[in-house]
Amino acid sequence: MELALGQAAQSLDLGEVPIGAVVVDANGRVMGLGRNMAESWNDPTAHAEVLAIRDAARRRGDWRLAGCRLYVTLEPCLMCAGAIQQSRIAVVCYGAPSPKSGALGSLADVYAIQGFNHYPQVTAGIKADQCAKILADFFRDKRSRLDARELRRGVRVVEGARLESE
Ligand SMILES: [Zn+2]
Repeated sequence: MELALGQAAQSLDLGEVPIGAVVVDANGRVMGLGRNMAESWNDPTAHAEVLAIRDAARRRGDWRLAGCRLYVTLEPCLMCAGAIQQSRIAVVCYGAPSPKSGALGSLADVYAIQGFNHYPQVTAGIKADQCAKILADFFRDKRSRLDARELRRGVRVVEGARLESE
């Protein structure tokens, strides 16, 4: 999860919502790394988990990631839960829960659906505080930057109104 947090920090440097993911094989070897790139690439599918899974499949030369574990800082969304299931990853470990998009129990619980050919085992809450903090810090900074911009715009509007009335 430390590696996944490192990936999240790198996406933060790019102005992305800081989410990171790592795929390791049964021997603990790092197979794939991913960080959220949705803004930079203008790609709504460029989530950390999807990129880590693609990286691991390419490195392994096999899209079946049986026996692998995926570590991700935030609870996966519906799309990523699907990608994880498709890749046959054995275990998913996530950090912070995601009340607005989490598909592994928070908003939905997709692996409770019966009839899939594969179900990963899920472990929640790994370094949850650190994973949540990097996200909370990002959104707080973003809000304060927006507030500052709103304030500057407000001043300009006031100045413009004064000019008109004079
Ligand atoms: Zn996702």
